[in-house]
Amino acid sequence: MSVLVTGGAGYIGSHMVLALIDAGIDVVVLDDLSTGFDWLVHPAATFEQGDVADANLVRRLVQRHEIDAVIHFAARIVVPESIADPLGYYLANTVKTRALLEAVIAAGVEKFIFSSTAAVYGMVGQDPVSEQASLAPISPYGRSKLMSEWMLGDASVAHPLSYVALRYFNVAGADPEGRAGQSSRQATHLIKVAAEAATGKRNGIDIYGTDYETPDGTCVRDYIHVSDLVAAHLDALRYLGSAEGTGKRLVVNCGYGRGYSVREVIDTVKRVSGVDFPVRFAPRRPGDPAGIVAKAERIRETLGWMPRLADLDLITSHALSWERFLAKRNGF
Ligand code: UDP
Repeated sequence: MSVLVTGGAGYIGSHMVLALIDAGIDVVVLDDLSTGFDWLVHPAATFEQGDVADANLVRRLVQRHEIDAVIHFAARIVVPESIADPLGYYLANTVKTRALLEAVIAAGVEKFIFSSTAAVYGMVGQDPVSEQASLAPISPYGRSKLMSEWMLGDASVAHPLSYVALRYFNVAGADPEGRAGQSSRQATHLIKVAAEAATGKRNGIDIYGTDYETPDGTCVRDYIHVSDLVAAHLDALRYLGSAEGTGKRLVVNCGYGRGYSVREVIDTVKRVSGVDFPVRFAPRRPGDPAGIVAKAERIRETLGWMPRLADLDLITSHALSWERFLAKRNGF
């Protein structure tokens, strides 16, 4: 089997490549290196630097490598940035996904796995959110991803395309064996930022909003270990290749079903690292829902997903190990 991974030089994509190679699957990575790093791509993968919307390139890759399935990670993912640059987000996440879909369908690919997001739900109450909840994203980022889900749904009716869209909750941590991790030039995600504070890369952390209607006033999120997340994609790949999954379109939440507040996360990073870095209180950040936790039954029932690293201490300690590795490597 041969799989094309877009965004395979990025955070989640590079972990996906490791998992596929560990499973004995041939991997082609297509990445423009706008935020990714070629040194993160496993040497056993074929690496092609380019644009996912380059139809000729995509067709050539699919044909040359006899690609059976596409896993599409390449995207922009920072909510506040999407508010400042909505058209850039619709281009990167929606328009380019349209072009990629057209090219892979024309080239005869029948299996597609899509990185969607919990941001498609928008404001939700305190309860875990199921896949049937209403979809009312509150940021251009969420809308850019939801439009891609809709395109996939429509395209799978018109063409012989099966797909799984995974709605990621908050992805964090790093490969337990230390082979990959989050390497953003400008980190914005909470656990990464806190790990940078704990390892001295930055002077402390700001908490964006302490007046939310949550138990301690800070936002609540469902943090999932990146290695469990990529394992869900392997399950999705198996599902799409099985008799049961053929011709199917499936949308699943990918989270643990347990929420932690920003304060709880910061306290965990301090405790696990043993470093008491400064914490400042800052205004709310635009586009942040107060709380969002997955109702996570469907992914277990349909894909048989079994998370193995559902532990905030473990997620934090792997994130910290990667941060120390980056510090020793002296940057990127
Ligand atoms: N957050 C924070 N300080 C930071 C980074 C994030 O208080 O330096 C908060 C953010 O406002 C949100 C939560 O942490 O409430 C998770 O944000 P993140 O950017 O990690 O993921 P998102 O939920 O936006 O995808």
